[in-house]
Amino acid sequence: MIAATCHCGAIHIHVSRAPRTVTRCNCSICRRYGALWAYCTPASVRIEAPRGGLEKYAWRRKVRMYFRCKRCGCVTHYKYRKRGRGYPVAVNSRNFDPEVLAAARIRNLDGASTWTWEYAR
Ligand SMILES: [Zn+2]
Repeated sequence: MIAATCHCGAIHIHVSRAPRTVTRCNCSICRRYGALWAYCTPASVRIEAPRGGLEKYAWRRKVRMYFRCKRCGCVTHYKYRKRGRGYPVAVNSRNFDPEVLAAARIRNLDGASTWTWEYAR
């Protein structure tokens, strides 16, 4: 079990194992958030938040819903409006300890245009 919190500690993130790969994407929202996403099965992630502690954001067709801590603003995760197989929960690994992140491979996803990716390291 790997645990993380947002900056203020209000939101707790638990994943069943450390991410082996995290994704850095240059699409319109990921480049602004600066997130490194770890894609997890919904069953392997637990997000604990106080009532009303998370704010949500989605746009246009609202395919994905992005969550951030209402108090400190840290982006914690996103999930798909649809549920079930093939719809991961993406956890923002920037919230993990730096040692956890240092052990993961980073892949650069060109979400802005071609949707191809390559490993950064
Ligand atoms: Zn917070």
